[in-house]
Amino acid sequence: MRQFFLFLVFGCAMMGVAAKDELIDETLKYAKGHQDFKDLYFKQHEQEFVRLVEQGQSPQTLYIGCSDSRVVPSLITNTRPGDLFVIRTAGNFVPPFQETCPDGVAATLQYALEVLGVKHIIVCGHSHCGAIKGLYDKLDPAKLGLVDKWIRYGEPAKKMAMQTINDKGSKEQLYEVTEKISVIFQLENLLTYPFIKKRVDDKQLELHGWYYTIETGEIDYYDPELYTFKDLITKISSK
Ligand SMILES: [Zn+2]
Repeated sequence: MRQFFLFLVFGCAMMGVAAKDELIDETLKYAKGHQDFKDLYFKQHEQEFVRLVEQGQSPQTLYIGCSDSRVVPSLITNTRPGDLFVIRTAGNFVPPFQETCPDGVAATLQYALEVLGVKHIIVCGHSHCGAIKGLYDKLDPAKLGLVDKWIRYGEPAKKMAMQTINDKGSKEQLYEVTEKISVIFQLENLLTYPFIKKRVDDKQLELHGWYYTIETGEIDYYDPELYTFKDLITKISSK
């Protein structure tokens, strides 16, 4: 019995050490990454950072994307510090406007428009989105109750995608259609905010729907006149 107890204590302690070591390894990775940033990027762009402090930020665009670690806004748009004001949420969902219940998304939207005066808002969905897939999974409410409530903002997209696919496609196609339709619903949700609707009506603000495919690195944009997504690169040649 004593041996079993010692084994249990020692075993648990070793597991604890292993888990702690893994955490330290991960933290060291970031510390080394930070050192590289300081030695390379920061050194090369130091004046730019000083200017951003002296003049303050004045981004022209608010980017709303998913929290997914594989979709990095500044990387996929090749933008620099100061270019994008960013909101990231699970599933890139934007809750509709509720005056009596402000949240982090609403407050950040208001700041982006009323203080920074951004001229563009991009909502960027992406392939293999866990939040969108979650709409089709049975989530354990005891463990994922908050997630389950949050992803309900994707329900209208799910409903429309199911009507569109109607048992004709694979699960992967259903997810992709849901991801793309959800982008359009989130743009509609943005228009429920009075300070956004007014600026769009006055042509002071443009809304854009994007879809990023992780495995190809391609971005498609939503063309509201043709109700379809098109390769963003084609915008360059059409200018
Ligand atoms: Zn996602």
